[in-house]
Amino acid sequence: MANDLLNVKVLRINLSTGEIKREKIDLELVRLYLGGRGLASKILYDEIDPAIDPLSPENKLIFANGLLTGTSVPTGGRYMVVTKGPLTGTIASSNSGGFFGAELRKAGWSMVIVEGKAEKPVYISIKDDDVQIKDANHLWGKTTDITTDELIEEFGDKRARVACIGPAGENLVKFAAIMNDKSRAAGRTGVGAVMGSKNLKAIVVRGSENINVMDKAAFMEAVKSKVDIIRKNPITGEGLPKLGTKVLDSIINQSGLYPTKNFQFGTFEYTEEVNGEALVNKGYLVDNKACYACPIGCGRDVVLPNGRKGEGPEYESGWAFGADCGVEDLIAVSDANFMCNELGLDTISAGGTIAAAMEMYERGYLPKEDLGNGPELRFGSSESLLYYLKKIAYREGIGDKLAEGSYRFCQAYGHSELSMSVKKQEMPAYDPRGAQGHGLEYATSNRGGCHVRGYMISPEVLGVPEKLDPQSLEGKAGWVKIFQDLTAVIDSAGLCLFSSFALSADDYTELINAGTGFNFTTDDVLKIGERIWNLERKFNLEAGISPEEDKLPNRFKEPLPDGAQKGSFSHVEELLPKYYEARGWNSDGTIPEEKLKELKIA
Ligand code: SF4
Repeated sequence: MANDLLNVKVLRINLSTGEIKREKIDLELVRLYLGGRGLASKILYDEIDPAIDPLSPENKLIFANGLLTGTSVPTGGRYMVVTKGPLTGTIASSNSGGFFGAELRKAGWSMVIVEGKAEKPVYISIKDDDVQIKDANHLWGKTTDITTDELIEEFGDKRARVACIGPAGENLVKFAAIMNDKSRAAGRTGVGAVMGSKNLKAIVVRGSENINVMDKAAFMEAVKSKVDIIRKNPITGEGLPKLGTKVLDSIINQSGLYPTKNFQFGTFEYTEEVNGEALVNKGYLVDNKACYACPIGCGRDVVLPNGRKGEGPEYESGWAFGADCGVEDLIAVSDANFMCNELGLDTISAGGTIAAAMEMYERGYLPKEDLGNGPELRFGSSESLLYYLKKIAYREGIGDKLAEGSYRFCQAYGHSELSMSVKKQEMPAYDPRGAQGHGLEYATSNRGGCHVRGYMISPEVLGVPEKLDPQSLEGKAGWVKIFQDLTAVIDSAGLCLFSSFALSADDYTELINAGTGFNFTTDDVLKIGERIWNLERKFNLEAGISPEEDKLPNRFKEPLPDGAQKGSFSHVEELLPKYYEARGWNSDGTIPEEKLKELKIA
């Protein structure tokens, strides 16, 4: 039987010329980079100059399935969008679940590489091998939910899946998302703006192929054993299905690293009004939602008393519009999440940018007249939260400046220190003063402020796979390296990072080998992760991102004023030399030639 996992087929679509090519990836590249994030990063690095303008036609936008995406492996529905990001100027890879990636794989495609720029708005229609570029004028300006409904109707098959941008992507908001299946987001780093810059509104796909693996019986045995592990684990089998990722609100608040009012504080006094339990107890949660082949089902199907419906909020989005903006109204927080899904905005950067603007306003750095007729930007104001989100998506009034992200916004008023960002991307929902390894992970992330490039909250707060003292520096550089490398593997295999609460590096190795017939050891697989990490770093260095940007905002040199971690501050500057050493890099953060050769990058 053919092994489809090694038959990696690519659609290359040039929107400037209208040319559509079908290609196949060399097997050696699959061995070196697996798929998804790794393989697409390799292609991007080889094919574009890292110094280009991310919103120019020279940039490429790659929709990349992981090696195991679309199989029955648990959580195996993930795909990655890889490009050069407009928010950070770094390599950008943004991950999403739902069903779009698996459908693309069932249509026979592991990857779609979009090049150039269409003259007028278009969408790409894929029905197995029937691939067409079609006019999207009638869809331009529409929200992602309406675009999805209309495209499925037009496609004529209710089982089709859609990934699209909303008004934010069309208007080149620097943190615009690509939404698939209406509520799943490739949210971070502004990949939606790159799609908008190409005049590409959407991709609609329907596939009818079966995906054959190396040895079906052995693969199913491996899959079953991992599903059992996930179901028996208290986090993936109980906490996440019951409360979603919002199971974290109270845990992180009690641990004292729940960023509040633009990271001024580490606890939020209204957490119980907006946490995962509140979503259940107030009766807003209707059901769980699961992505393709996921036994966890952390998604939230929510109906609000005002009649608004949608999926979410999950932990990061709920925090970004709740504690970070000081908003205690769960209806407004949920509504803000739904609005971002519809408009196509990244929730973390949207909330972080509004929170920074609120602090700017309250400190008197942002003049009232600059708000036009809008409400005052004060912490706790749900009215201003919802008002300015819309202004951002349409770049209206001060929304035009906010659409550039918190760093550029604060810098325009002479106060970039109030942007809680790394490499110009807003940080997520954990104060780095409360977990030293996690702070190092933020500072060194290849796509700017991010929690899913090496989730050190897992050992430092949750005790998985073992409990580490969050304030200790001992061994943290090595931990961060391994977490970053393993995450690159999970992303490239096409699995959800949440599976790693239950599965180990050995488990992922077993799944990869069972599906492909490869004979990797766990060390081999971690070496692949290290290769991907170094390639991304090389791209960034060549894009002009200096190692001096491996840092946190100055606020984190000041002690936390409250909560369980009161008095703690970031030691990232002490950890950084140890991290460079653990990576085998030069002391200035550059990569030596020998390391590139060892990893088969050079
Ligand atoms: S754990 Fe949640 S986000 Fe991950 S695949 Fe399952 S439903 Fe999707």
